[in-house]
Amino acid sequence: MLSVSGMRGIVGKTLTPVVAAEYAAACGSFFREQSGRDNPIVCLGRDSRPSGEMLSAAAQAGLAAVGCRVIDLGIVMTPTAGVMIDKHRAAGGLVITASHNPSEWNGIKCLDSDGVAPPPDQIEHMLKRFHGKQFEYLPAEAIPPSSRDDRAMQEHVERVLRSIDPQPIRKKKFKVVLDSVNGAGGAAARMLLDALGCELVHLHAEPTGLFAHTPEPTEENLTELAERTAVEHAACGFAQDPDADRLAIVDENGRYIGEEYTLVLSAWQTLEERGPCAMAANLSTSRMIDDLAQRHTGASVHRTAVGEANVAQAMKQHNAIIGGEGNGGVIRPEITWVRDSLSAMALVLGLLASKNRPVSSLIDELPRYAMIKRKLDLAAVGGRDAVGPILARVVDAFSEQRVDTRDGVRIDWPDRWAHLRPSNTEPIVRLIVEAPNEAAARELAEQVATAAGIG
Ligand code: MG
Repeated sequence: MLSVSGMRGIVGKTLTPVVAAEYAAACGSFFREQSGRDNPIVCLGRDSRPSGEMLSAAAQAGLAAVGCRVIDLGIVMTPTAGVMIDKHRAAGGLVITASHNPSEWNGIKCLDSDGVAPPPDQIEHMLKRFHGKQFEYLPAEAIPPSSRDDRAMQEHVERVLRSIDPQPIRKKKFKVVLDSVNGAGGAAARMLLDALGCELVHLHAEPTGLFAHTPEPTEENLTELAERTAVEHAACGFAQDPDADRLAIVDENGRYIGEEYTLVLSAWQTLEERGPCAMAANLSTSRMIDDLAQRHTGASVHRTAVGEANVAQAMKQHNAIIGGEGNGGVIRPEITWVRDSLSAMALVLGLLASKNRPVSSLIDELPRYAMIKRKLDLAAVGGRDAVGPILARVVDAFSEQRVDTRDGVRIDWPDRWAHLRPSNTEPIVRLIVEAPNEAAARELAEQVATAAGIG
Protein backbone atom coordinates (compact mmCIF):
# COMPACT_ATOMS: atom_id res chain seq x y z
CA MET A 1 0.00 0.00 0.00
CA LEU A 2 1.61 3.22 -1.16
CA SER A 3 0.42 6.70 -0.27
CA VAL A 4 1.70 10.14 0.62
CA SER A 5 2.22 9.02 4.20
CA GLY A 6 4.55 6.24 3.10
CA MET A 7 4.48 2.56 2.33
CA ARG A 8 2.78 -0.18 4.34
CA GLY A 9 2.50 -3.91 3.84
CA ILE A 10 2.21 -7.29 5.49
CA VAL A 11 5.63 -8.54 6.49
CA GLY A 12 6.80 -11.51 4.43
CA LYS A 13 4.00 -11.06 1.88
CA THR A 14 3.94 -7.59 0.35
CA LEU A 15 6.70 -6.16 2.52
CA THR A 16 9.94 -8.13 2.12
CA PRO A 17 13.60 -7.15 2.67
CA VAL A 18 13.98 -6.65 -1.08
CA VAL A 19 11.00 -4.28 -1.20
CA ALA A 20 12.35 -2.37 1.83
CA ALA A 21 15.83 -2.05 0.31
CA GLU A 22 14.48 -0.87 -3.04
CA TYR A 23 12.10 1.59 -1.41
CA ALA A 24 14.99 2.93 0.68
CA ALA A 25 17.17 3.17 -2.43
CA ALA A 26 14.45 5.22 -4.14
CA CYS A 27 14.16 7.48 -1.07
CA GLY A 28 17.95 7.76 -0.85
CA SER A 29 18.20 8.82 -4.50
CA PHE A 30 15.47 11.36 -3.83
CA PHE A 31 17.45 12.74 -0.83
CA ARG A 32 20.56 13.01 -3.03
CA GLU A 33 18.64 14.93 -5.65
CA GLN A 34 16.89 17.19 -3.11
CA SER A 35 20.00 18.02 -1.11
CA GLY A 36 22.36 18.28 -4.07
CA ARG A 37 24.84 16.17 -2.11
CA ASP A 38 26.52 12.94 -3.16
CA ASN A 39 26.43 11.59 0.39
CA PRO A 40 23.44 13.10 2.19
CA ILE A 41 22.99 12.29 5.88
CA VAL A 42 19.86 10.19 6.47
CA CYS A 43 18.53 9.28 9.95
CA LEU A 44 17.04 5.80 10.21
CA GLY A 45 14.74 4.73 13.05
CA ARG A 46 12.19 2.05 13.71
CA ASP A 47 9.33 1.30 16.06
CA SER A 48 9.34 -1.79 18.25
CA ARG A 49 7.74 -4.33 15.89
CA PRO A 50 9.56 -7.68 15.72
CA SER A 51 10.13 -7.18 11.97
CA GLY A 52 11.69 -3.76 12.55
CA GLU A 53 15.30 -4.81 12.94
CA MET A 54 15.24 -6.92 9.78
CA LEU A 55 13.54 -4.23 7.70
CA SER A 56 15.78 -1.53 9.12
CA ALA A 57 18.87 -3.51 8.10
CA ALA A 58 17.42 -3.85 4.59
CA ALA A 59 16.61 -0.13 4.43
CA GLN A 60 20.07 0.77 5.65
CA ALA A 61 21.56 -1.36 2.87
CA GLY A 62 19.35 0.33 0.27
CA LEU A 63 20.25 3.81 1.48
CA ALA A 64 23.99 3.14 1.70
CA ALA A 65 24.01 1.43 -1.71
CA VAL A 66 22.92 4.69 -3.37
CA GLY A 67 25.40 6.81 -1.41
CA CYS A 68 23.57 7.95 1.74
CA ARG A 69 25.42 8.34 5.02
CA VAL A 70 23.08 6.52 7.40
CA ILE A 71 22.81 7.39 11.09
CA ASP A 72 21.01 4.48 12.76
CA LEU A 73 18.88 5.61 15.71
CA GLY A 74 17.59 2.16 16.69
CA ILE A 75 14.12 1.95 18.24
CA VAL A 76 12.74 5.50 18.44
CA MET A 77 9.46 7.36 18.47
CA THR A 78 8.63 8.91 15.08
CA PRO A 79 8.99 12.45 16.55
CA THR A 80 12.41 11.48 17.93
CA ALA A 81 13.49 10.81 14.35
CA GLY A 82 12.32 14.37 13.58
CA VAL A 83 14.42 15.72 16.46
CA MET A 84 17.51 13.87 15.24
CA ILE A 85 17.06 14.88 11.58
CA ASP A 86 17.20 18.46 12.86
CA LYS A 87 20.14 17.83 15.20
CA HIS A 88 22.27 16.18 12.49
CA ARG A 89 21.03 18.60 9.81
CA ALA A 90 20.14 15.51 7.82
CA ALA A 91 18.65 15.60 4.33
CA GLY A 92 15.82 13.44 5.62
CA GLY A 93 14.99 10.23 7.37
CA LEU A 94 13.26 6.89 7.17
CA VAL A 95 11.19 5.41 9.98
CA ILE A 96 10.20 1.75 9.88
CA THR A 97 6.70 1.80 11.36
CA ALA A 98 3.10 0.94 10.60
CA SER A 99 1.89 3.37 13.29
CA HIS A 100 -1.29 1.97 14.89
CA ASN A 101 -1.73 -1.01 12.52
CA PRO A 102 -1.49 -4.54 13.98
CA SER A 103 1.94 -6.13 14.37
CA GLU A 104 1.86 -8.28 11.22
CA TRP A 105 2.02 -4.99 9.33
CA ASN A 106 5.02 -2.75 8.94
CA GLY A 107 5.93 0.14 6.71
CA ILE A 108 8.41 2.86 5.83
CA LYS A 109 7.78 6.55 6.35
CA CYS A 110 9.91 8.93 4.31
CA LEU A 111 10.65 12.20 6.12
CA ASP A 112 12.10 15.39 4.68
CA SER A 113 14.68 17.65 6.30
CA ASP A 114 11.94 18.98 8.65
CA GLY A 115 10.96 15.47 9.72
CA VAL A 116 7.59 15.56 7.94
CA ALA A 117 6.30 13.85 4.80
CA PRO A 118 7.53 15.60 1.64
CA PRO A 119 4.80 17.35 -0.43
CA PRO A 120 2.60 15.02 -2.55
CA ASP A 121 4.25 15.94 -5.88
CA GLN A 122 7.68 15.04 -4.50
CA ILE A 123 6.37 11.77 -3.09
CA GLU A 124 4.85 10.95 -6.50
CA HIS A 125 8.24 11.57 -8.05
CA MET A 126 9.90 9.34 -5.45
CA LEU A 127 7.31 6.58 -5.99
CA LYS A 128 8.02 6.72 -9.73
CA ARG A 129 11.66 6.02 -8.94
CA PHE A 130 10.60 3.09 -6.75
CA HIS A 131 8.28 1.55 -9.35
CA GLY A 132 10.70 2.10 -12.24
CA LYS A 133 13.74 1.11 -10.12
CA GLN A 134 15.26 4.44 -11.09
CA PHE A 135 18.16 4.38 -8.69
CA GLU A 136 21.80 3.65 -9.16
CA TYR A 137 23.71 1.22 -6.96
CA LEU A 138 27.19 2.65 -6.54
CA PRO A 139 30.52 0.79 -6.78
CA ALA A 140 32.35 -0.30 -3.62
CA GLU A 141 34.60 2.75 -3.29
CA ALA A 142 31.60 5.13 -3.37
CA ILE A 143 29.69 3.59 -0.45
CA PRO A 144 29.94 5.88 2.62
CA PRO A 145 30.20 4.48 6.16
CA SER A 146 27.13 4.28 8.41
CA SER A 147 27.09 5.13 12.12
CA ARG A 148 24.88 4.84 15.20
CA ASP A 149 23.58 7.53 17.52
CA ASP A 150 22.29 6.14 20.81
CA ARG A 151 21.52 9.55 22.33
CA ALA A 152 18.34 10.19 20.37
CA MET A 153 16.00 9.64 23.31
CA GLN A 154 18.04 11.91 25.62
CA GLU A 155 18.15 14.65 23.01
CA HIS A 156 14.38 14.52 22.56
CA VAL A 157 13.59 14.53 26.30
CA GLU A 158 16.06 17.38 26.93
CA ARG A 159 14.41 19.49 24.25
CA VAL A 160 10.99 18.94 25.80
CA LEU A 161 12.28 19.84 29.27
CA ARG A 162 13.90 23.01 27.91
CA SER A 163 10.60 24.04 26.27
CA ILE A 164 8.60 24.18 29.53
CA ASP A 165 9.00 25.20 33.16
CA PRO A 166 9.37 21.82 34.88
CA GLN A 167 9.41 23.13 38.46
CA PRO A 168 5.64 23.48 39.06
CA ILE A 169 5.13 19.93 37.73
CA ARG A 170 7.92 18.49 39.92
CA LYS A 171 6.40 20.07 43.01
CA LYS A 172 3.12 18.23 42.38
CA LYS A 173 4.70 14.75 42.31
CA PHE A 174 1.86 13.61 40.02
CA LYS A 175 0.97 9.95 39.86
CA VAL A 176 0.56 9.03 36.19
CA VAL A 177 -0.53 5.77 34.57
CA LEU A 178 1.00 5.35 31.13
CA ASP A 179 0.12 2.73 28.51
CA SER A 180 2.91 2.50 25.91
CA VAL A 181 1.29 -0.51 24.15
CA ASN A 182 4.75 -2.19 23.88
CA GLY A 183 5.60 0.41 21.27
CA ALA A 184 8.57 2.71 20.71
CA GLY A 185 7.58 5.45 23.14
CA GLY A 186 7.83 3.74 26.54
CA ALA A 187 11.47 4.39 27.42
CA ALA A 188 11.49 8.05 26.37
CA ALA A 189 8.20 8.73 28.16
CA ARG A 190 9.57 7.12 31.33
CA MET A 191 12.68 9.30 31.09
CA LEU A 192 10.54 12.44 30.70
CA LEU A 193 8.08 11.59 33.47
CA ASP A 194 10.96 10.68 35.84
CA ALA A 195 12.57 14.04 35.11
CA LEU A 196 9.23 15.71 35.91
CA GLY A 197 9.11 14.01 39.30
CA CYS A 198 6.08 11.86 38.48
CA GLU A 199 5.29 8.57 40.10
CA LEU A 200 4.81 6.31 37.10
CA VAL A 201 2.61 3.23 36.80
CA HIS A 202 3.76 1.93 33.44
CA LEU A 203 1.58 -0.51 31.49
CA HIS A 204 3.00 -2.41 28.50
CA ALA A 205 6.31 -0.62 28.79
CA GLU A 206 8.56 -3.16 27.06
CA PRO A 207 9.28 -2.34 23.39
CA THR A 208 8.53 -5.85 22.16
CA GLY A 209 6.18 -4.81 19.39
CA LEU A 210 3.83 -7.56 20.58
CA PHE A 211 0.94 -5.23 21.28
CA ALA A 212 -0.95 -6.07 24.46
CA HIS A 213 -4.16 -4.69 22.93
CA THR A 214 -5.33 -3.27 19.59
CA PRO A 215 -2.88 -0.38 19.35
CA GLU A 216 -5.01 2.53 18.12
CA PRO A 217 -5.44 4.76 21.23
CA THR A 218 -9.25 4.85 21.13
CA GLU A 219 -11.68 4.35 24.00
CA GLU A 220 -12.50 0.69 23.33
CA ASN A 221 -8.78 -0.23 23.32
CA LEU A 222 -7.89 1.58 26.54
CA THR A 223 -10.21 -0.02 29.10
CA GLU A 224 -7.27 -1.37 31.12
CA LEU A 225 -5.67 2.09 31.29
CA ALA A 226 -8.98 3.64 32.33
CA GLU A 227 -9.56 1.12 35.12
CA ARG A 228 -6.02 1.33 36.38
CA THR A 229 -6.03 5.15 36.43
CA ALA A 230 -9.12 5.12 38.66
CA VAL A 231 -7.86 2.32 40.94
CA GLU A 232 -4.46 3.99 41.40
CA HIS A 233 -6.08 7.38 42.16
CA ALA A 234 -3.71 8.82 39.56
CA ALA A 235 -3.82 12.42 38.31
CA CYS A 236 -4.36 11.11 34.78
CA GLY A 237 -3.74 8.27 32.39
CA PHE A 238 -1.81 8.63 29.12
CA ALA A 239 -1.79 6.31 26.11
CA GLN A 240 0.71 6.38 23.27
CA ASP A 241 0.32 4.68 19.89
CA PRO A 242 3.14 2.33 18.73
CA ASP A 243 5.25 5.06 17.12
CA ALA A 244 4.27 7.52 19.86
CA ASP A 245 3.25 10.50 17.78
CA ARG A 246 -0.29 10.42 19.20
CA LEU A 247 -1.42 10.75 22.81
CA ALA A 248 -4.80 9.96 24.36
CA ILE A 249 -5.81 11.02 27.88
CA VAL A 250 -7.85 9.44 30.68
CA ASP A 251 -9.10 11.71 33.48
CA GLU A 252 -8.56 11.15 37.21
CA ASN A 253 -11.83 9.19 37.42
CA GLY A 254 -10.75 6.77 34.72
CA ARG A 255 -12.86 8.35 32.00
CA TYR A 256 -11.44 8.36 28.47
CA ILE A 257 -11.86 11.98 27.42
CA GLY A 258 -11.23 11.52 23.70
CA GLU A 259 -8.22 12.42 21.59
CA GLU A 260 -9.61 15.82 20.59
CA TYR A 261 -8.76 17.12 24.06
CA THR A 262 -5.02 16.41 23.74
CA LEU A 263 -4.44 19.34 21.41
CA VAL A 264 -6.91 21.58 23.27
CA LEU A 265 -5.29 21.09 26.70
CA SER A 266 -1.80 21.44 25.18
CA ALA A 267 -2.83 24.66 23.41
CA TRP A 268 -4.40 25.97 26.62
CA GLN A 269 -1.15 25.50 28.54
CA THR A 270 0.81 27.10 25.69
CA LEU A 271 -1.46 30.18 25.87
CA GLU A 272 -1.03 30.28 29.66
CA GLU A 273 2.76 30.02 29.45
CA ARG A 274 3.48 32.10 26.38
CA GLY A 275 0.48 34.38 26.07
CA PRO A 276 -1.63 34.90 22.92
CA CYS A 277 -0.05 33.21 19.93
CA ALA A 278 -0.77 31.78 16.50
CA MET A 279 -1.94 28.15 16.44
CA ALA A 280 -2.80 25.73 13.63
CA ALA A 281 -5.14 22.77 13.29
CA ASN A 282 -6.52 20.75 10.41
CA LEU A 283 -10.05 21.27 9.14
CA SER A 284 -11.33 18.08 10.81
CA THR A 285 -10.25 19.13 14.31
CA SER A 286 -12.70 20.25 17.02
CA ARG A 287 -13.53 23.94 17.30
CA MET A 288 -12.69 23.90 21.01
CA ILE A 289 -9.33 25.39 20.00
CA ASP A 290 -11.19 28.33 18.41
CA ASP A 291 -13.08 28.84 21.69
CA LEU A 292 -9.75 28.90 23.53
CA ALA A 293 -8.34 31.43 21.08
CA GLN A 294 -11.39 33.61 21.61
CA ARG A 295 -10.70 33.71 25.36
CA HIS A 296 -7.15 34.93 24.74
CA THR A 297 -7.31 38.19 22.82
CA GLY A 298 -4.71 38.20 20.08
CA ALA A 299 -4.56 34.44 19.69
CA SER A 300 -5.43 32.96 16.30
CA VAL A 301 -6.17 29.54 14.79
CA HIS A 302 -5.12 28.74 11.23
CA ARG A 303 -6.94 25.84 9.61
CA THR A 304 -5.26 23.51 7.13
CA ALA A 305 -5.95 20.52 4.91
CA VAL A 306 -5.72 17.19 6.75
CA GLY A 307 -2.17 15.80 7.09
CA GLU A 308 0.71 16.50 9.43
CA ALA A 309 2.84 18.14 6.72
CA ASN A 310 0.01 20.57 5.89
CA VAL A 311 -0.29 21.60 9.54
CA ALA A 312 3.49 22.05 9.79
CA GLN A 313 3.45 24.16 6.61
CA ALA A 314 0.75 26.48 7.97
CA MET A 315 2.60 26.74 11.28
CA LYS A 316 5.70 28.00 9.48
CA GLN A 317 3.70 30.45 7.44
CA HIS A 318 1.99 31.96 10.51
CA ASN A 319 4.81 31.54 13.06
CA ALA A 320 2.60 29.27 15.13
CA ILE A 321 4.16 27.86 18.28
CA ILE A 322 1.66 25.05 18.66
CA GLY A 323 -0.49 23.09 16.26
CA GLY A 324 -1.78 19.65 15.54
CA GLU A 325 -4.62 17.34 14.76
CA GLY A 326 -7.69 16.06 16.58
CA ASN A 327 -6.33 12.51 16.68
CA GLY A 328 -4.10 13.32 19.66
CA GLY A 329 -1.25 14.78 17.60
CA VAL A 330 0.47 17.86 19.01
CA ILE A 331 3.24 19.72 17.17
CA ARG A 332 5.70 22.03 18.93
CA PRO A 333 8.21 23.37 16.37
CA GLU A 334 10.87 24.08 19.01
CA ILE A 335 10.98 20.29 19.58
CA THR A 336 10.25 19.03 16.05
CA TRP A 337 7.72 19.54 13.23
CA VAL A 338 6.38 16.04 13.93
CA ARG A 339 3.39 15.24 16.18
CA ASP A 340 4.91 14.39 19.55
CA SER A 341 3.34 12.57 22.50
CA LEU A 342 6.13 13.73 24.86
CA SER A 343 5.43 17.42 24.22
CA ALA A 344 1.73 16.79 24.79
CA MET A 345 2.37 15.00 28.11
CA ALA A 346 4.59 17.83 29.37
CA LEU A 347 2.02 20.49 28.42
CA VAL A 348 -0.95 18.65 29.94
CA LEU A 349 0.91 18.06 33.21
CA GLY A 350 1.97 21.72 33.15
CA LEU A 351 -1.66 22.76 32.87
CA LEU A 352 -2.71 20.47 35.75
CA ALA A 353 0.05 22.01 37.86
CA SER A 354 -0.56 25.66 37.00
CA LYS A 355 -4.36 25.42 37.34
CA ASN A 356 -4.12 23.15 40.36
CA ARG A 357 -7.25 21.35 39.23
CA PRO A 358 -8.00 17.82 38.05
CA VAL A 359 -8.45 16.94 34.37
CA SER A 360 -12.24 16.54 34.70
CA SER A 361 -12.66 20.06 36.05
CA LEU A 362 -10.55 21.54 33.25
CA ILE A 363 -12.69 19.67 30.72
CA ASP A 364 -15.84 21.05 32.39
CA GLU A 365 -14.57 24.56 31.76
CA LEU A 366 -14.48 24.01 28.00
CA PRO A 367 -17.57 24.23 25.80
CA ARG A 368 -18.99 20.77 25.22
CA TYR A 369 -19.58 19.47 21.71
CA ALA A 370 -20.70 16.24 20.16
CA MET A 371 -18.75 14.97 17.17
CA ILE A 372 -20.07 12.48 14.64
CA LYS A 373 -17.94 10.74 12.01
CA ARG A 374 -19.57 8.93 9.11
CA LYS A 375 -18.32 7.19 6.01
CA LEU A 376 -20.47 7.73 2.94
CA ASP A 377 -20.12 4.98 0.34
CA LEU A 378 -19.55 6.20 -3.21
CA ALA A 379 -20.24 2.82 -4.84
CA ALA A 380 -23.98 3.41 -5.35
CA VAL A 381 -23.53 6.91 -6.79
CA GLY A 382 -20.88 6.25 -9.43
CA GLY A 383 -17.66 5.83 -7.42
CA ARG A 384 -14.90 8.43 -7.31
CA ASP A 385 -16.22 10.28 -10.36
CA ALA A 386 -19.12 11.36 -8.16
CA VAL A 387 -16.87 13.28 -5.77
CA GLY A 388 -16.75 16.53 -7.78
CA PRO A 389 -20.55 16.85 -8.22
CA ILE A 390 -21.15 15.85 -4.57
CA LEU A 391 -18.86 18.57 -3.25
CA ALA A 392 -20.36 21.11 -5.66
CA ARG A 393 -23.90 20.30 -4.45
CA VAL A 394 -22.86 20.82 -0.83
CA VAL A 395 -21.13 24.13 -1.60
CA ASP A 396 -24.33 25.25 -3.37
CA ALA A 397 -26.65 24.14 -0.60
CA PHE A 398 -24.74 26.01 2.10
CA SER A 399 -23.52 29.04 0.15
CA GLU A 400 -25.03 31.32 2.83
CA GLN A 401 -22.52 29.99 5.39
CA ARG A 402 -18.76 30.24 5.63
CA VAL A 403 -17.45 27.64 3.17
CA ASP A 404 -13.86 26.39 2.93
CA THR A 405 -12.93 24.22 -0.08
CA ARG A 406 -9.22 23.62 0.51
CA ASP A 407 -9.76 19.96 1.44
CA GLY A 408 -13.17 18.72 0.37
CA VAL A 409 -15.77 21.13 1.80
CA ARG A 410 -16.00 22.52 5.31
CA ILE A 411 -19.03 24.58 6.30
CA ASP A 412 -18.96 26.69 9.45
CA TRP A 413 -21.70 28.16 11.62
CA PRO A 414 -20.95 30.11 14.81
CA ASP A 415 -21.29 27.02 17.05
CA ARG A 416 -21.03 24.04 14.66
CA TRP A 417 -19.36 22.81 11.51
CA ALA A 418 -19.34 19.98 8.99
CA HIS A 419 -16.41 18.69 6.94
CA LEU A 420 -16.95 16.48 3.90
CA ARG A 421 -13.75 15.00 2.53
CA PRO A 422 -13.07 12.29 -0.07
CA SER A 423 -10.71 9.53 1.05
CA ASN A 424 -7.43 9.15 -0.87
CA THR A 425 -7.37 5.40 -0.44
CA GLU A 426 -10.98 4.14 -0.41
CA PRO A 427 -14.08 4.88 -2.53
CA ILE A 428 -15.74 6.77 0.32
CA VAL A 429 -16.34 10.31 1.48
CA ARG A 430 -15.77 11.07 5.15
CA LEU A 431 -18.23 13.31 6.91
CA ILE A 432 -17.27 14.84 10.25
CA VAL A 433 -19.72 17.02 12.11
CA GLU A 434 -19.42 18.89 15.38
CA ALA A 435 -22.33 20.60 17.14
CA PRO A 436 -23.28 21.58 20.71
CA ASN A 437 -25.10 18.28 21.36
CA GLU A 438 -25.64 14.80 19.96
CA ALA A 439 -29.09 15.53 18.46
CA ALA A 440 -27.90 18.70 16.72
CA ALA A 441 -24.86 16.85 15.35
CA ARG A 442 -27.03 14.03 13.99
CA GLU A 443 -29.38 16.49 12.37
CA LEU A 444 -26.53 18.42 10.76
CA ALA A 445 -24.93 15.20 9.48
CA GLU A 446 -28.29 14.23 7.93
CA GLN A 447 -28.67 17.67 6.35
CA VAL A 448 -25.21 17.57 4.75
CA ALA A 449 -25.58 13.96 3.56
CA THR A 450 -28.93 14.84 1.98
CA ALA A 451 -27.49 17.94 0.29
CA ALA A 452 -24.65 15.76 -1.01
CA GLY A 453 -27.17 13.30 -2.45
CA ILE A 454 -25.73 10.33 -0.54
CA GLY A 455 -27.91 10.31 2.57
MG1 MG B 1 1.33 6.99 14.97
